[in-house]
Amino acid sequence: MAKQKKKGKWITKLLIAVIMTYLLLIVLQLMGDVYSKLTFTHKIPISKEWNLIVVNRWNEIPEDYSVELVELSNGQRVDSRIYPYLQEMFDAARAEGVYPIVREGYRTEEEQQETLDEKIQAYIKEGYSRSRAEKTAKEWVALPGTSEHQLGIAVDINADKSKCSNEEVYAWLAENAYKYGFTLRYPLGKQEITGTSYEPWHYRYVGVKAAQEIYEKGICLEEYIDKHFTSLYNINE
Ligand SMILES: [Zn+2]
Repeated sequence: MAKQKKKGKWITKLLIAVIMTYLLLIVLQLMGDVYSKLTFTHKIPISKEWNLIVVNRWNEIPEDYSVELVELSNGQRVDSRIYPYLQEMFDAARAEGVYPIVREGYRTEEEQQETLDEKIQAYIKEGYSRSRAEKTAKEWVALPGTSEHQLGIAVDINADKSKCSNEEVYAWLAENAYKYGFTLRYPLGKQEITGTSYEPWHYRYVGVKAAQEIYEKGICLEEYIDKHFTSLYNINE
């Protein structure tokens, strides 16, 4: 009887220890999350590699950045450096019965302003107040100077609707774009880091190495840069 009691006590102690360890791990995890949120810096150093330059609402296009454009058959333009990879990716999609098109490629600063104004007007038409329309539009459209489209290495991809649906194109891209060096730039759940809502159509060329790691780890470009490069710099902002 005494032995039974002792055994019971021992199990209780063990259980308490396990529960305490578990709780401690949860607390540590929460602290880690809060810490990384507090310390994540939105300001990212300008990469010397053109394909890894980060442009978002906190990081403007570098002043010395220049583009060399090629025109696509539908009149959209992209930087010539990404053209072969884009072509290769589209060929691969078509071979699998998916028909993507570039709906938006390069945009000038003025065109970016027009895009933003149009979006604001659209929300006002829907009945939004001016300030709410502006706020909502800015969640979807970048301010001039902070749009990746001005880099010429980002594209909005839709479907050739006569042949397939947008959803089919988005699904194909989500699984395959990284093989050609393109990354889903604004994934779900990363809005606080990218500054932009989920956009299944917006792809950015970063090169195969970066695209593959971003894809495999389920991270976004900012996190990739933060992981690989920011430790090399001294950032105070
Ligand atoms: Zn876009």
